[in-house]
Amino acid sequence: MKKTIVILTFIFIVFGLSGQQDSLYVLVIHGGAGNITPERITKDVKPAYVAKLTESLQAGEEILKNGGTSLDAVEAAVRVLEDSPLFNAGRGAVFTIDGNNELDASIMCGKEINSGAVASITNVKNPISAARKVMEESPHVLLIGKGAERFSYEKGLEIVDPSYFFDQERWDNYRELLKRQRKGGDTGMNDPSPDDMMGTVGAVALDIHGNLAAATSTGGMSGKQFGRVGDSPIIGAGTYANNKSCAVSATGHGEYFIRNVVAYDISARMKYKGTSLDEAANYIINDKLKGLNVNGGLISVDKEGNITMPFNTSGMHRGFVNSEGQLEVKIFGDE
Ligand code: ASP
Repeated sequence: MKKTIVILTFIFIVFGLSGQQDSLYVLVIHGGAGNITPERITKDVKPAYVAKLTESLQAGEEILKNGGTSLDAVEAAVRVLEDSPLFNAGRGAVFTIDGNNELDASIMCGKEINSGAVASITNVKNPISAARKVMEESPHVLLIGKGAERFSYEKGLEIVDPSYFFDQERWDNYRELLKRQRKGGDTGMNDPSPDDMMGTVGAVALDIHGNLAAATSTGGMSGKQFGRVGDSPIIGAGTYANNKSCAVSATGHGEYFIRNVVAYDISARMKYKGTSLDEAANYIINDKLKGLNVNGGLISVDKEGNITMPFNTSGMHRGFVNSEGQLEVKIFGDE
């Protein structure tokens, strides 16, 4: 009798625990960090942001809860945000100094340590899907401009007229920026207004197979030099994923995120120093970058499903959903 109980307990623990492990999934998203305050995102407009972030989480969760991959989930979550003019990615992207939209995106698979990216594209409806095609259907990591556009067309992705990305509010902000520049004030790229650093989107996920993935998509920074590429399509800077450590998607002043190899640094600190995810991410955002006066934030999930969403700005559009049934969306410090 005693022996039977011991055996049953053993079976229960082994299968119980592995069953729990097998069904663990997490998806975290962001919609950019910056000067995001209740004065700017008023009570009237906040519900629209919350609804879109929730829709993005649900699109990714639908895939994860049915046993789909973290890659499919991050791509789906980012596509929802790219299709919304509320965010600075896809439709609603900010303008370059000469009044065009140039889009950057990247995706990374933590299992294969494989990645794909596009930069400075102007007519592919969903840049994140172009990045995925580069990863899976080309021998390359990063395609830019016309080459990336032709590749996307040949791979059957949806091509749109560049005017598809136009958003009136972004245009008005761009005109304001030009006026400030003429007056010799804010010079955009050299002295980016925190106002302009809003709306890059990203997602990171852990699927039930234990695989991590990360994706980031952006229109870059308002008033950027045409041809300028930020951190979002640079693997290791704005995006990184490795099954041995974590998946990261960043948002902030790209030049500094590239110089500080932000996304990879989180992973390296975990791998080589044994630092926890939260400690590594908080150090980078709230200590190292803050010390350099660099604004931004990031989202990350580790191989155990722990998540972190630090930012050193007044707000960051963000949220997560997991297999425990939790779904949370926040915009400012604590709400
Ligand atoms: N990191 C983006 C860039 O520099 C901007 C942002 O995240 O808001 O292109």
